[in-house]
Amino acid sequence: MQTIERDVVIIGAGPSGLTAARRLTQAGKTVAVLEARDRVGGRTWSNVIDGQFFEIGGQWVSPDQTALLALLEELGKDTFSRYREGKSVYISPKGERTVYEGDTFPVSEHTAAEMDRTIEILDGLAAEIGPTEPWAHAKARELDTISFHHWLRQQSTDEEACNNIGLFVAGGMLTKPAFAFSALQAVLMAASAGSFSNLVDESFILDKRVVGGMQSVSQQMAAELGDDVVFLNNAVRFLHWEDNGAGKAAPVTAVADHVTVKAQHAIMAVPPNLYSRVSFVPALPRKQMIVHQHISMGLVIKVHATYATPFWREDGLSGTSFGAGHLVQEVYDNTNHEDERGTLVGFITDEAAEAMWALSEDERKAAILGAVAEFLGPKALDPEVFYLSDFGAEEWTRGAYATSYDLGGLARWGAIQHDPVGPIFWSSSDLAAEGYQHVDGAVRMGEATAKRILES
Ligand SMILES: Cc1cc2nc3c(=O)[nH]c(=O)nc-3n(C[C@H](O)[C@H](O)[C@H](O)COP(=O)(O)OP(=O)(O)OC[C@H]3O[C@@H](n4cnc5c(N)ncnc54)[C@H](O)[C@@H]3O)c2cc1C
Repeated sequence: MQTIERDVVIIGAGPSGLTAARRLTQAGKTVAVLEARDRVGGRTWSNVIDGQFFEIGGQWVSPDQTALLALLEELGKDTFSRYREGKSVYISPKGERTVYEGDTFPVSEHTAAEMDRTIEILDGLAAEIGPTEPWAHAKARELDTISFHHWLRQQSTDEEACNNIGLFVAGGMLTKPAFAFSALQAVLMAASAGSFSNLVDESFILDKRVVGGMQSVSQQMAAELGDDVVFLNNAVRFLHWEDNGAGKAAPVTAVADHVTVKAQHAIMAVPPNLYSRVSFVPALPRKQMIVHQHISMGLVIKVHATYATPFWREDGLSGTSFGAGHLVQEVYDNTNHEDERGTLVGFITDEAAEAMWALSEDERKAAILGAVAEFLGPKALDPEVFYLSDFGAEEWTRGAYATSYDLGGLARWGAIQHDPVGPIFWSSSDLAAEGYQHVDGAVRMGEATAKRILES
C-alpha cells in the first residue's frame, strides 16, 4: 500500500471531482483524486458496443448550462446539434398515434389550455423560489409535503394534462414516479433549468452533444492532471478525519484499495446515495447520517438502437416521440456526429424500468423495440445494434440520472447539504442549484467547492 501526502484528497473522478481537482491544481494546491472504477467520468461514459459508439450516460448540453459550456471552450471541445427537422409523434393515453408539428402536443383544446395554465403556475413558482435555497422559501414546507402527483391534481382535473406535465419532471428528469417526490422538488428541477418552460422544451434542454462524447471531458481533465493525481481502481473505504471547525483544514486520511492519501481537506465528489459506502472515522454527525438516508437515486433505462440509415427522416419524422403512458416515454434522434447510420435513443423510467428488468433479455428487447415501433413504424423493430444503459446495476452509481430527496426531505434538510463536516466537503451534480442533476451542475459544484477550500 502506497501512502502519499497532498493538500486535498478528492473521492470520485466524475465531472465534479475532476473539475475541483483542475481548479485546485491551477491555484497551486496538490491534489489526489481516488476513483473506484477503472475509468473516469462517473455517470458520463462512452463505449463502443458491437461496433457502434454510444453515450451510455450523460450527453446533452443546453444553452443555460454556461459553466459546462465555458469548460468545453477551455478544453477546446466542439459540440454538435441534435437532428430535429421534421414532424414529431405523440401517443395519447388511449394509444392513438398522432404525427404533429411544433412544440405543442396534439391534445384537445381543453387539455392544451390546462397544460399551458399549469406550466404558467410552475414557471411562476420556479421564478419565485429559485434553485439556490428552495428550502428557505415561505412555501417550502407546504410544497414539500405534497407529492407532485397530487399537487398536479390540485391544479387541474384534466388527467392527460397532469400526466403530460408529470412526464417532463417525473419520467424525464427525476426518474421517480410523481407520487414519490414533492412539488418543491419539481420546482427545484424547473428552477435549476431556468424555468419549467425550458424543461419542457426539448429543443432547449436537449440542444447539443460534445464531439467525442461527454465522458471525453473528464478523460481530458484527468489526462491533463496526470497519473500522479488520478488513481483508478481505488475505492475509498475509510475516511479518518479530525475537526478544527467546519470547512477548516485538519488532518484527513483516505484509505483506498491500493493507496492511502494524507491531506488537509477532503471532497466527497460522489452522489449522496454513496456517502455511506465510506466508513467515516469518527462517524459523521447524527444529522448528516440521518439526512443521507433520505436521498436516493431515480431509475431510468436509456435505450440505444442503431439502424443502417435514419429511416424515420425519410418519412418526414424528426424521431422525437412522446407518450406519457407509453413504455418508452420519450424517443429522440441520437445519430452520432458524421455517422451514416441512424441512432435512436429512448427512455424508460421508474416502475416501467423495473418491469423491464424483470423480463428475460429476449422479452425485454421485443417489448422495448415494439414500443419504439409504435412511434416510428415497423422498421424500428430491427436495429443493427441494440443496447440498454443499466446504471442501476453499477455498484458505484446505483441508479440514474441522479438523486433527490424523499417527500419532505428538501424542506427539512436541504439547508445542511452544503455544510462541510470538519475538513470534508460535498460536491456532486445532485447538490447543485443551476444544473441540478446535470453535468453542468457537477462542474458548478466542483468549481464552488474548490473556491471554498481555497478561501478557507
Ligand atoms: C443514463 C444517464 C443519462 C444522463 N443524461 C444526462 C444528459 O444528457 N445531460 C446531463 O447534463 N446530465 C445527464 N446525466 C447526469 C450526469 O451524468 C450527472 O449529473 C453527472 O455525471 C454527475 O457528475 P458527478 O461528478 O457529480 O458524479 P458522478 O458522475 O456519479 O461521479 C462520481 C464518481 O465517484 C466514484 N465513486 C463513488 N464512490 C466512490 C468511492 N467510495 N471511492 C472512490 N470513488 C467513488 C464513481 O465511480 C464516479 O466515477 C445522465 C446520467 C445518466 C446516468
